[in-house]
Amino acid sequence: MLVDSHCHLNFPELASNLPEIFANMEKNGVGLALCVSVNLTDFHQVISLAENYSQLYASVGVHPDYEDEEEPTVERLVELANHPKVIAIGETGLDYFRLKGDLEWQRERFRNHIRAARLCGKPLIVHTREAADDTLRIMEEEGAASVGGVMHCFTESLEVAERAIALGFCISFSGIVTFKKAIQVKEVAEKIPLDRVLVETDSPYLAPAPFRGKTNQPAYVKHVAEEVARLRGISEEELTEATTRNFMSLFKLK
Ligand SMILES: [Zn+2]
Ligand SMILES: [Zn+2]
Repeated sequence: MLVDSHCHLNFPELASNLPEIFANMEKNGVGLALCVSVNLTDFHQVISLAENYSQLYASVGVHPDYEDEEEPTVERLVELANHPKVIAIGETGLDYFRLKGDLEWQRERFRNHIRAARLCGKPLIVHTREAADDTLRIMEEEGAASVGGVMHCFTESLEVAERAIALGFCISFSGIVTFKKAIQVKEVAEKIPLDRVLVETDSPYLAPAPFRGKTNQPAYVKHVAEEVARLRGISEEELTEATTRNFMSLFKLK
């Protein structure tokens, strides 16, 4: 069984099509998916998916690209995370690509997520784009290593991956690893320890080859897994087994 460690099934292009999406997951052997929150306004959609479907889990957090949102306090995050199907805090992190200017609010928001994760003992889902140094520095300063988590949709260097791994984090690969020009991501997927590898879709975005440009969905995590297995020179079964075991152990599931 494969796990999609990061998707947004509450987004309208997917939410309107759930029966087909679940059927495709089953066809491709994708048994679980983690539905990741991007703001508090839509958290009720994410949690109701996780409550209604046994193959779905949820996270709570506010994405760094969502500037004009209700700002999540540490207390609010901890309160919302107190639900058996909320297994992670995020997605959170820093994004200096999409937003410019004084981004101190992003760093403060990220710190609050790490503090909440430490208080409730749930791992972090970290988004980082053109901000690797600040992301790692804040993770170190706030003691993110005590809860661990995942660097999702990883596109940074091997050195950044190794620093995150040293803090107890997993590295999750998205459809980007299937793109021909993604040389650096392919190198990371080949070289990091197998017990730190996760796979994801980040659907509805970033569909892997051969569906590039189309609406992504959790079933397509199979194509990400195929490519990571190929890069590492191991069988798809071995990669599937390892990534699922890594997911279960990171998020304390049985
Ligand atoms: Zn993200
Ligand atoms: Zn995402």
